[in-house]
Formats: sequence, structure tokens, C-alpha cells
Amino acid sequence: MFNCPNCQSKDIGKIGINQYYCWNCFIELSLSQGMINTHQVEEDGSLSSLDDLFDEEQRRYIL
Ligand SMILES: [Zn+2]
Repeated sequence: MFNCPNCQSKDIGKIGINQYYCWNCFIELSLSQGMINTHQVEEDGSLSSLDDLFDEEQRRYIL
């Protein structure tokens, strides 16, 4: 498992194939090609990327 790149919490739930949700800071996380992609769920249900907020180092994960 990995820590949330935003809040470092391990309180992450699986919501789909390669898709996770951080229950601590309420962002959606998806895994692809060794990187964690971060998304915020907007009030209208759409997703906006938060990847710009993190360095590649922070978004890298090791299984
Ligand atoms: Zn988090």
C-alpha cells in the first residue's frame, strides 16, 4: 500500500481497478505506470487534477 501524497495518511480505500480514495483528505487517487495521479472531486461530481501540487518524487509509488 502507499501513503496519500497529499496528507501522508494510510487511510486509503479501494474504489475501483487502480482507483483509490483517501478518507482523510477526500481526494481520489489512481495508479498508472508507477505514478499516483491525484484528483479532487468537485461539487458537481467532476474531477480536477491535483498533480501540479506534487513533485514527481511524491507521486511515485513502489508496490
Ligand atoms: Zn489524503
